Amino acid sequence: MKPMIEFTPENRYGHRVLLTPGPLTTTASVRAAMRDDIGTWDDDAIELVREIRAALVELANGDDLTCTLMQGSGSMGVECVLGSAIPRNAAKVLILNNGAYGVRMIRSCRALGIPFVEMRDSEEETHDPARVEKILMEDASITHVAAVHCETTTGLVNPLREIGLAVARQKRRFTVDAISSFGAYATGVGADIDFSAGPIDHLVGSSNKCVEGVPGFSFIISRRAAVEECAGNARSYALDLHDQWHGFETRGKFRFTPPTHVLMAFRQALRELRAEGGVPARERRYKDNRDTLIAGMKKLGFEPLIPASIQSHIITTFLFPTPHFNFDRFYRQLRELGYIIYPGKLTHRDTFRIGNIGSIGRCEIEGLLGAIAKVTAGSSAAR
Ligand SMILES: *Cc1c(COP(=O)(O)O)cnc(C)c1O
Repeated sequence: MKPMIEFTPENRYGHRVLLTPGPLTTTASVRAAMRDDIGTWDDDAIELVREIRAALVELANGDDLTCTLMQGSGSMGVECVLGSAIPRNAAKVLILNNGAYGVRMIRSCRALGIPFVEMRDSEEETHDPARVEKILMEDASITHVAAVHCETTTGLVNPLREIGLAVARQKRRFTVDAISSFGAYATGVGADIDFSAGPIDHLVGSSNKCVEGVPGFSFIISRRAAVEECAGNARSYALDLHDQWHGFETRGKFRFTPPTHVLMAFRQALRELRAEGGVPARERRYKDNRDTLIAGMKKLGFEPLIPASIQSHIITTFLFPTPHFNFDRFYRQLRELGYIIYPGKLTHRDTFRIGNIGSIGRCEIEGLLGAIAKVTAGSSAAR
């Protein structure tokens, strides 16, 4: 049988390098942490959940926070919060939308029958906090605001702190999808993710993004008072934020079957994040990945879509170098060399994306650039 991957010098680590926004490349030690079975009633399972919740609260770095884990991918976490935080009567949410993840929140609201209004911006522009504030001043029926921090569609980063301050001045409630950014952007007073500036009521993250775990659950970091208020609101039995949280607080457990192996990998990933030097060190590594990538890609004839001022260090979108650029072939050729990149998700421009996150560093980025140079050599496509 033909091996899935050719192990070439470009792919130095001998495994697939995922340059995608999750699942992403994980360390061998994170994957090895899954090589055990654990019972859900065991003390060590309770301790596993306790350690993870405590570490996430510590990472969030705010006052009086609590953490709820929810089975499923990040979108289940977002849907769980939207369906639980917004009361059933006399409530309406303003959804800030400049990409596919804003659209996803709108779809969740539609499916759950939650009244919403949309503030839409171009996929290539960040939200203007002054405009958010104006909308809130003019529509008293809006009670909640939901925003995406890093829009993974393009890789742009919205001014979360300033949006939060505007929401706070207008005394509304604030929910944040920080799934692609949590773990890679600073937290705390005055930082990018500042629970006291919003104040952020609920922030959603997931196991397979910048903490560098494997896919399987989302986590919701909430102000304690905000999650207490969710009792009785949920439009779903399984995705009930308050009930799930209550289970953790009272029994230390998931309500339904926990993703035990994923949790063990995630605990290891959290320990490795700490060992690396925490969020500041991870942020530096990702920024170096991004800068190395963009400089190298420019030399090869590829231009990033968005300006550096709004470019995150999570994922970078590149324009097709020519209108007849064959992305499918490009993707397959890179895949054969062990590098998995990501298609574009823009509605109106031909692009592809390369993730800066995961357990990758300059070695992998330079390996990728070497592979891209090889597959584009001799073709006029990328000149
Ligand atoms: C990854 C991601 C999600 C969750 O997507 P899933 O497909 O459910 O994992 C949500 N929001 C953002 C910004 C993301 O990057």
